[in-house]
Amino acid sequence: MQQHVVDPEMCIQCSACEMACPLKAIDCIAGRFCVDFVKCKNCAKCIEDCPTGACDCFIEVATPFTQMEQAEWTSVPTSNLPQS
Ligand code: SF4
Ligand code: SF4
Repeated sequence: MQQHVVDPEMCIQCSACEMACPLKAIDCIAGRFCVDFVKCKNCAKCIEDCPTGACDCFIEVATPFTQMEQAEWTSVPTSNLPQS
């Protein structure tokens, strides 16, 4: 499945995405903007308002990363799919 996330290497912590999200699906945790996969309905409003493109990030995952896991990223993991 695809998960919508924020790329921490492109994010400038402006909080525009958090304010733009009509579902309050983005939270700032320890200075990192993290998308709640349960709340997010992929409406793309945060992507439209993000000045850097950091919000326009989707990764293929086996199970979604929690917001607490995302808060520890220094870069976006390519995936957590099992290695074949
Ligand atoms: S895509 Fe829509 S619902 Fe999901 S985090 Fe962005 S603004 Fe919120
Ligand atoms: S709008 Fe973009 S640059 Fe601003 S906090 Fe959100 S992801 Fe980071």
